[in-house]
Amino acid sequence: MHNLFSMTCADLENWLRLSHGKGAFHAKALYHEVMGRGNRDFALHPAFEKSQKLALAVEGSLDVPEARIVETAGTDDSFKFVTALDDGLRIESVILTMESHETLCLSTQVGCRMGCAFCETGTMGLIRNLQPEEMVLQVMAARYQLQRPVRNVVYMGMGEPMDNLDAVLKAVEILSDQRGLNIPLRRQTLSTVGLVPGFKRLASMESMRPLHLSLSLNAASDDLRSELMPVNRAFPLALLKKTLAEYPLPSGGAILLAYVLIPGVNDSREDAMALADFAEGLPVRINLIPYNPGTCGRWPATEDKDIHRFGALLYEKGLFVRKRWSRGREVMAGCGQLGGRPEKDSKE
Ligand code: SF4
Repeated sequence: MHNLFSMTCADLENWLRLSHGKGAFHAKALYHEVMGRGNRDFALHPAFEKSQKLALAVEGSLDVPEARIVETAGTDDSFKFVTALDDGLRIESVILTMESHETLCLSTQVGCRMGCAFCETGTMGLIRNLQPEEMVLQVMAARYQLQRPVRNVVYMGMGEPMDNLDAVLKAVEILSDQRGLNIPLRRQTLSTVGLVPGFKRLASMESMRPLHLSLSLNAASDDLRSELMPVNRAFPLALLKKTLAEYPLPSGGAILLAYVLIPGVNDSREDAMALADFAEGLPVRINLIPYNPGTCGRWPATEDKDIHRFGALLYEKGLFVRKRWSRGREVMAGCGQLGGRPEKDSKE
């Protein structure tokens, strides 16, 4: 059976034509109803009124998945939900409430093989990659929870998006389809630990230019970064800097440098100066993020005063710094805290 969440409207149109001899008119109606309006019951759409036989045939050969949310937890400004996948594995997603809109932080893998020392997901290892439809499913689940469309998406939940890039790019394409979820590329942010081949591939795709990129940096000396993020041994800082410098950003665009501030580890004056050196000459903005200890944290949580202090050192060097206060820490929905264990769904 074909999964609607794995398709753009053009994919659906091709499939409908091949499987049922119908094309654009029915595809657009069906896609808009389910993906655009969040209504699973497309058979009631006027386009299918005259041909209920067709509606039944399509229903019988098209899977419109239902988001099975098995756990939720939330505070005023962040909300975590756990979705059960068809094979019983579970993934976590977080809705962050901003002043004017919500942002969904979605997962791209079950677990992760990058092994970052500050991250709960990294302790799981990689269980498997998610399919595009399993990323789209998280957006639909968030929509049902919020009762309104999701405005912004960040690929920053469980997993390393560039380690599953084919599926992530397909999800980006599906989410941005104007006839469906309509989340433009400029409202989608792909976060990475810095897999250089991924940057190169994106750089070669003109259609992906408006997609925002965030590099999870976290240290600006190779020794410390390799300790915190083993991937640095394969893609050290000099190579990363060169890659960022050569990346073809749209005019006025910038890459975010995410820096999780870990007390006593990467938060000294020297660390700030090394970060300023790395950023010099690059089109970047810095995003300071407090460390969340999670259940197996090696270090204490970052305090707001440390974020202020470190941020001030960077301001002095003329850098653009955005500070994030710890959202969702209470419900284990903060950065680096997503660690939904791959237990089987209890309903199965
Ligand atoms: Fe994987 Fe991201 Fe965690 Fe690193 S921070 S282990 S890339 S999920």
